Amino acid sequence: MFKKILIANRGEIAARMIRACHELGIETVAVFSEADSDALHTRLADEAHLIGPATPGESYLRGDKLVEVAQRTGCEAIHPGYGFLSEAPAFARMVRDAGLVFIGPPAEAIEKMGVKTEARAIMVAAGVPIVPGFQSSTATLDDFAREADNIGYPLMVKAAGGGGGKGIRIVHQPERLTEAIESARREALHAFNDPMIFLEKYIADGRHIEVQILADMHGNVIHLFERECSIQRRHQKIIEETPSPFLSDDVRLQMGEAAVNAARAVNYVNAGTVEFIVDNQMNFYFLEMNTRLQVEHPITEMVTGTDLVNAQIRVAAGQPLHFSQDDLCQRGHAIECRVYAEDPGNHFLPATGPVLRTVEPAGPGIRVDAGVVSGDQVTIHYDPMIAKLIVLADNRADAIRKMDWALAQYVILGLTTNLQFLRDVIQHPVFVVGEATTHFVDDYLSEWEPPETSLSDHVLIAAAIGEMLKQQIAMGGRNGGCNGDQYSPWARTDRFRMGQ
Ligand code: ADP
Ligand code: ADP
Ligand code: MG
Repeated sequence: MFKKILIANRGEIAARMIRACHELGIETVAVFSEADSDALHTRLADEAHLIGPATPGESYLRGDKLVEVAQRTGCEAIHPGYGFLSEAPAFARMVRDAGLVFIGPPAEAIEKMGVKTEARAIMVAAGVPIVPGFQSSTATLDDFAREADNIGYPLMVKAAGGGGGKGIRIVHQPERLTEAIESARREALHAFNDPMIFLEKYIADGRHIEVQILADMHGNVIHLFERECSIQRRHQKIIEETPSPFLSDDVRLQMGEAAVNAARAVNYVNAGTVEFIVDNQMNFYFLEMNTRLQVEHPITEMVTGTDLVNAQIRVAAGQPLHFSQDDLCQRGHAIECRVYAEDPGNHFLPATGPVLRTVEPAGPGIRVDAGVVSGDQVTIHYDPMIAKLIVLADNRADAIRKMDWALAQYVILGLTTNLQFLRDVIQHPVFVVGEATTHFVDDYLSEWEPPETSLSDHVLIAAAIGEMLKQQIAMGGRNGGCNGDQYSPWARTDRFRMGQ
């Protein structure tokens, strides 16, 4: 097993990986940008090293610097987390060439799945269904228009190199096709340095359902069932759950097998996710494979009783998987909400600033994977996700109630967050009956506004007294005490009672 690992990421996922390492008795080295000198992940790791300015291109995306720090500090492996360099084959190669272990799939597998058009071709060969569409690197706009008529409208224009919901356009009429292709190309060139786009039939009333897989270096490939991620804004997930309230056991099994076949087709090793879009007849079609750990991995951990980061590290160290397909089942129901510093009442505009105070909910079956706690900053430089709130309960109805309660308990002061928006989704009758599709947010919550919060005088007075008490505690009962004990709580109430 490794003795020391470099954590090539920040925020909640860096914190998550550091904990997994420490549980395994592995030392951790964090890296940070100038904007993150006091961030949570630098405080949790055994060591932390500055790698450059705030701009990711000059810090977290500088593979050369990461490898240099890993070598200088005696690390044997690098965990990339998600985002940043997690799906960059050149980085995986650079790590390998430096004699270090990349905790993720082989560069070749990342490369094959990294371009969606190529991944689609591999899936066809592996017998995995794909969404009907058209791809070509030489086609003219007229060719695209002709093929679009064959596919039928509405359809989607998607970036071949895409990710994070970028470079995606829905087109409802032929007149809009050219404009959509051109703007998707521009966005794709800017975001992924690759203007290639392709067409896909738009699956109306579709659900995003993905399958977690794990593969070791000894030929074992297993799946850990599905996650339904249909609650999205701008094609990006905000709430995920497992099991899917929609799938039948038969289709769940078929999707698991298809995901395993997809992984085998590219000699996959380590954790990965095969994403599908599922139509209202329960036909499923391959969307893409994410060759990394995913944001929403905790819900799978909750229902299967596994630790995916622990498994990733063991697999990277060459160990065979320590559980088999037959050992796994889905027990209970898990839901995750992504808590963002953003304004759902204003186009989900990111919010930045200091977090004055957080109080995280706690209790049986409640897990908070936070990247930001009291006193930390949310900056413009990175993803504005504050934390992931995850619950596990016996069944879906209980999980929804538990999530609603946990959201209500979660206190984040100082920034606009989406906490109330998440509660409104969780309580929405369409979500509650399990009928939400990927356009749920557009259909039902596009006009969302924050509720009027007119706090009564009683609440404000209670809050003011609470603050006064806190300040006195901070002063350590300096001016006197109860029976000489300066830490006695009675000392303070005494003073209040005496009107001091
Ligand atoms: P998941 O599939 O794990 O839910 P997301 O799509 O939410 O992942 O992306 C996780 C993080 O990685 C986000 O911060 C997102 O912006 C970023 N990301 C994902 N793919 C890419 C990409 N190809 N280029 C840049 N950032 C990406
Ligand atoms: P990204 O790489 O940005 O994650 P995906 O291909 O995974 O891109 O698509 C992102 C989201 O867009 C999906 O989760 C789904 O909601 C929607 N989507 C993608 N393709 C289709 C499709 N063919 N029909 C309907 N919705 C789709
Ligand atoms: Mg995706």
